[in-house]
Amino acid sequence: MKNIYQFTLNDLQIYLVEQKFKKFNARQIFEWLYKKNITSFSNMSNLSKQLRSHLQENFIFTKLNVVKHQVSEDGTEKFLFELRDSNVIETVLMRHNYGNSVCVTTQLGCNIGCSFCASGLQKKKRDLTVDEIVLQVLKVQEITKERVSHVVVMGIGEPFDNYSNTMNFIDVVNNPYGLEIGARHITVSTSGIVPKIIDFADEERQINLAISLHASNDEIRSKIMKINNTYSIDDVIKASRYYVEKTKRRITFEYILLEGLNDEIRHANELSDLLRGMNCYVNLIRYNSVKEFDYKGSSDKRADNFYKQLQNRGINTTLRREKGSDIDAACGQLRSKNV
Ligand code: SAH
Ligand code: SF4
Repeated sequence: MKNIYQFTLNDLQIYLVEQKFKKFNARQIFEWLYKKNITSFSNMSNLSKQLRSHLQENFIFTKLNVVKHQVSEDGTEKFLFELRDSNVIETVLMRHNYGNSVCVTTQLGCNIGCSFCASGLQKKKRDLTVDEIVLQVLKVQEITKERVSHVVVMGIGEPFDNYSNTMNFIDVVNNPYGLEIGARHITVSTSGIVPKIIDFADEERQINLAISLHASNDEIRSKIMKINNTYSIDDVIKASRYYVEKTKRRITFEYILLEGLNDEIRHANELSDLLRGMNCYVNLIRYNSVKEFDYKGSSDKRADNFYKQLQNRGINTTLRREKGSDIDAACGQLRSKNV
């Protein structure tokens, strides 16, 4: 049986018309699912009896079981959810002064295998389906009884290696009849799958794009991100410039500061040369230790110097503090358990 949360509004409209129901029924169903959080077709009281029984016979509701729920001192919460096939995924809720943000997982494991990232320790077992990604947001809202206003696609997995499901997920959360989260409140992060960056640019959506760059030259980047052997820094920067031109949006580059590896002043200079003239900003990330790896995050002083050098060279830069590191909920610390 199919899952009712798999549909974008458009796909549901097409399906219902094919089945000889009305196009506007799709909006009604979306409102029950995403505005009223109804999880039984019999409660969808404005639908005809005939439609309700059609839905009952053909669709099920995805359920995520909470296996574990941890709360950090700073208010960050980490959820372990069990899927129907008993795989377990992680989802993180971060509380900011501008609202609640959920970090979703898109794959079981990750095949990109960056050398500093816990998520890459497990080979990808499968892509998550649209409903499995959507439900992460719905379930967090249901548990906390607080509205989720922002979504970041930065959990386990490479979203552009699960492109169409990720895009359909975004469609559902962004849709006014769905979760109605503004495009500018949604951020997708990629390790730099160039053809998909181009596709994403061509969609001309107002979604934020972040690129995990993490190095200022190919030599260093290939050492820590083997994807760089397929798509080099030049390719990634060209695709990024294309995105900025096409969407008129600012792009973000993520850069983890690793002591003695990519955090010298000459690296800051190299980076600023790469990005010159682009409407972008650099998000400097503190490394979160992963016990399997020897990497060391830069000291505060080195991080600060790197930050200042970029600023002095005219690059918009932020030096980010991590949330939830005490419960292993920070970036790159997520790992799919029992995979
Ligand atoms: N696969 C996508 C999105 C998930 S990772 C990507 O790579 O962009 C989200 C961000 O966390 C990426 O920038 C990633 O490089 C970073 N990250 C991974 N491991 C980390 C760690 N141990 N400490 C800090 N950031 C990390
Ligand atoms: Fe995968 Fe992103 Fe981790 Fe790299 S950083 S292994 S792409 S999740």
